[in-house]
Amino acid sequence: MSRLDSFFAAALDRIDRAGQRRTLRPAALQDGGRVRRDGRELIDFSSNDYLGLARHPLLIERARAWTEAHGTGSGASRLVTGTSAAHLAIEARIARFKHAEAALVFASGWQANAAVVPALIAAVPNSASPNSASQGAAVFTDRLIHASMHAGLAISGTRQHRFRHNDLDHLEELLSTKGAEAPARLILTESVFSMDGDRADIARLAEIAARHDAFLFVDEAHATGVLGPDGAGLSAKVPGGIDLIMGTFSKALGGFGAYVAGSQVMIDYLVNAASGFIFTTAPPPAVLGAIDAALDLVPGMDAERAHLAALGERLRSGLATLGIDHGASSTQIVPAVIGAETAALDLSRKLEERGLLASAIRPPTVPPGTSRLRLALRATHAPSDIDTLLNAIEACR
Ligand SMILES: *Cc1c(COP(=O)(O)O)cnc(C)c1O
Repeated sequence: MSRLDSFFAAALDRIDRAGQRRTLRPAALQDGGRVRRDGRELIDFSSNDYLGLARHPLLIERARAWTEAHGTGSGASRLVTGTSAAHLAIEARIARFKHAEAALVFASGWQANAAVVPALIAAVPNSASPNSASQGAAVFTDRLIHASMHAGLAISGTRQHRFRHNDLDHLEELLSTKGAEAPARLILTESVFSMDGDRADIARLAEIAARHDAFLFVDEAHATGVLGPDGAGLSAKVPGGIDLIMGTFSKALGGFGAYVAGSQVMIDYLVNAASGFIFTTAPPPAVLGAIDAALDLVPGMDAERAHLAALGERLRSGLATLGIDHGASSTQIVPAVIGAETAALDLSRKLEERGLLASAIRPPTVPPGTSRLRLALRATHAPSDIDTLLNAIEACR
């Protein structure tokens, strides 16, 4: 019992009545695009282990080797006792991979965004205008950016100007009307959107940012390892066009943690200003070992990337045949937009009975009326897994 339990119970009750209560269920990733959940093996269309690296022998072996060499914990924040050579080596590899001057590793993607966004904003002094809402940088965000960036914006207390999803004309309009007077402009977006599987036009974003003298921040959580030359993300197609590239090791790279890459001065500043870097313990050797092994493998995984792209095409064309909207997806993330919350939940439940895990995503994660199955493909899926899914969706509807 805690003293606030009656409040917690009432809050849960409200969530329940809105039909939005979530619970944790036991599950474990398996090989071959499968997951074991509640004791049953299901074909897994929900995990973000896009390249199947989370159980790869080389990652496991190196995580073990680095643990044996360096221990299980890193002891402290990197600013306190000093940094290990392994952290510096991983950061140098990431900087090369991302064609950036420097990189900085964070404990998780959520933590990176929540820490870096307010630090960037804090670097720009408040406007001289006494009547302004004491705002320094003007911040422009795609409507669908990840919750972790919103957390960072909330910490900074900054008002954001939201542009319609992937509508770069709207972004330009806002930059002109709301950004021209500001001492700096900051654009936050993703290269692949997590719930829709569509892409931002990075080349055009870079061009707009240059023209409006705006700092461009691109979250590559779902593109890293999967898209771009050598799996280096979509940012690799516009070298030098993006001020800050953020990405994670927790999805296609099969491990845990995250990075930001950009100019050396920016990274030096973040070491001094990003709370989620300064006041947290450095990622441990096992995590770094797995990252190191993933970075060895990912550039050579073109065949897996091509297979994954083909699976996406197969799924989208099958959904179209069934008359199911898959939005603007062009990646390994394919939404099957169902509409009503209850219908999406019902379909997800029926698919699970048939041995398929396809999680329903509903408001507030996605806009009302667009509840969906978020289908995440893995290079370890066979084409026949896609057909099994499509047949099951057809049978359940
Ligand atoms: C998953 C995700 C994150 C958070 O990364 P974690 O390493 O899982 O904390 C950040 N941004 C986007 C777009 C994501 O999808």
